[in-house]
Amino acid sequence: MTFNDLNIIERITKSLSLSGYSEPTPIQVNAIPALLDGKDLLASAQTGTGKTAAFAIPILQKIYESKNHKADRKIEALVLTPTRELALQVAENFTNYSKYLNIKNTTIYGGVSQKRQEESIKRGVDVVIATPGRLLDLLNQKILHLNDIKYLVLDEADQMLDMGFIKDVLKIVNQIPKDRQTMLFSATMPKQIEQLSKQILINPVRIAVAPVTQTLDLINQSVYLVSKSYKTALLVDLIKKMNMKSVLVFTRTKNGANRLVKNLMMVNIESEPIHGNKSQASRERSLNNFKSGKTKILVATDIAARGIDIEALDFVVNYDLPEVPETYIHRIGRTGRAGLSGIAISFSDPAEPKLLNQIEKHIGKSINVIEHQFQVLKPIKESIKPITKSPKHEINRRQDQNKLPDYLKFKGHKPKSKENKNSKTSIKKKSKSFVEYQKKTNPHYQVKKSKSNK
Ligand code: AMP
Repeated sequence: MTFNDLNIIERITKSLSLSGYSEPTPIQVNAIPALLDGKDLLASAQTGTGKTAAFAIPILQKIYESKNHKADRKIEALVLTPTRELALQVAENFTNYSKYLNIKNTTIYGGVSQKRQEESIKRGVDVVIATPGRLLDLLNQKILHLNDIKYLVLDEADQMLDMGFIKDVLKIVNQIPKDRQTMLFSATMPKQIEQLSKQILINPVRIAVAPVTQTLDLINQSVYLVSKSYKTALLVDLIKKMNMKSVLVFTRTKNGANRLVKNLMMVNIESEPIHGNKSQASRERSLNNFKSGKTKILVATDIAARGIDIEALDFVVNYDLPEVPETYIHRIGRTGRAGLSGIAISFSDPAEPKLLNQIEKHIGKSINVIEHQFQVLKPIKESIKPITKSPKHEINRRQDQNKLPDYLKFKGHKPKSKENKNSKTSIKKKSKSFVEYQKKTNPHYQVKKSKSNK
């Protein structure tokens, strides 16, 4: 089966070849003909199956074929996603597939200033990919309207439900014309999603691709029974012994993620945290560093990592087991993509056997327990002395250095401790540096003579 067999136009197949897609994935084989035929769709599929292309390709083809290319752009398609990261990723897919189509997309999400989003809407786009909260905000401000929408996608609907977005989603859907084509994608199909689908879809074609537990067969899963205080030491040991090059590590909390990054830094293992308390810019930077291989270890909480598509991710480590068993499947689904095998390692605290039992029950099999020579490991703080100074010290030092005025940075001054910051010698040194700096950088600078020299 090829994309040509699915009646995809050459302008799109050309860009698919550039993306390295030689043939459609099962969800694409099933969804694309139904969507080109104008049907609504209810798809049970998780990330990694190629679901984004399954809806993006037919939407782009239909917009391209019906569009008046000389008229102003109208927002014809809306994709709602639970997280900013997923919105950006979906947009990247749309951009790749529309290389030869003159169809523009933009993203709308919270946590950043709305100005750029407002401007791109004003310039004109055909496709909007948005998280519900910020979109509703812009709709209320009348910065955009949804009167021209013909295609609506709810992506990762179960996650939007978990995150409490369903009311916002319904408010948005109510502003979209009824004669639209609607597609709902969800990794799991809890009752509420079934109900939602009845409310917003008309006679949908149902597709269930690789029921989530089935895809796990590609992934080598194992578990270490390890108490909290040994987890970091075990992780360090595994990173080294298994020569891990690309690892996504999940912690339960944001603080846990920060703490682990600091502890890894103490043993000179570079990693970056990604979670909801980080600014959007920092999350994007961490993600890009990880995708490009600059950072080998990304420490994430569930919400930030949901739906993130990273090619060639070899390892997923559940530093903390998730409390919801389904989350385990989403997490380890980050590895073992598109037919590749991956390795998922979990740490289970013997004090909390319930979490592991729940997961095993959910996936319908027991996970291989690996014995580890714990006597050679010691809790990380005792066993390994920091090679550099403590990260906190380093961060404070850098912040202080940044606070220095330019003329002192120019001299390579080190920040003073509080007590002698304003001592007489320090002030004298500062003024000398100031004069030298001004002489080098300011052609109009003249040294003022002090009164005593007059
Ligand atoms: P998704 O499930 O949409 O997150 O896609 C998972 C990964 O599969 C992404 O890296 C896509 O670029 C890739 N992908 C999607 N469709 C195909 C295809 N037909 N052939 C190869 N890779 C694909």
